[in-house]
Amino acid sequence: MTSLKKQTTRILDWFFPSFCVQCETPVNTHVGICQYCLTDLPLLDLNKHPNLLYRPDIAELFPDCQFNNLVACAWYRPPFDGWLSQLKFSNQIFYKNVLQQIITQQLSTVKARCEIWPELFIIIPLHRERFIQRGYNQVAQTWGDCLNNEDVKLDYLHRHKKTDAQSSLTKAKRVKNLQDAFICHQNLAGKTVAIIDDVMTTGATLNAATVALKKAGAKQVWAFVTCLTPLGR
Ligand SMILES: [Zn+2]
Repeated sequence: MTSLKKQTTRILDWFFPSFCVQCETPVNTHVGICQYCLTDLPLLDLNKHPNLLYRPDIAELFPDCQFNNLVACAWYRPPFDGWLSQLKFSNQIFYKNVLQQIITQQLSTVKARCEIWPELFIIIPLHRERFIQRGYNQVAQTWGDCLNNEDVKLDYLHRHKKTDAQSSLTKAKRVKNLQDAFICHQNLAGKTVAIIDDVMTTGATLNAATVALKKAGAKQVWAFVTCLTPLGR
């Protein structure tokens, strides 16, 4: 951290003290959760399973994955589901901070365990109309800062038709809703690329994105998500 940034942080801490989302002890600005509570969170064990598709219960829940590797931070359960929806609908900064601490920790665990690593990171795009309605893409907002040292692309994948909100549909309808939903105009021949989303419910969105990226030549597609729903099908 530069000395100017350090000073600014100190001043912000003085005027706007931050508190841990779990135990409410004071924490530095840019931090959402204290180190003790972070250690206590029920995160998925990526040290044991750096590719969650090889974890038997997850392979059974999501049998149709088109992508080669799955990395998720946690199950979509309390407290993570609450933090994600608070961020999505009220855009509160301390939920972004806590999610970024979790993502950074999980990314470094996986990176240390993997011999190959994606060359490009592509954030799943919202449809333009939904982006305008909400005013921001919460996936880009949370993951963007955690991928400072990676090659992040925001314009490699496009939604070329408006899809209905996935949460209101059954699994079969979700797949149909998403057929050819994405397009990639880049040449990704031979590349290992990562796609990033916040919640994986059935995997239909990530599968549709994977199909588009493989059509563009990608050798491997890895999916990175903040949370996995325990419901699967
Ligand atoms: Zn705490």
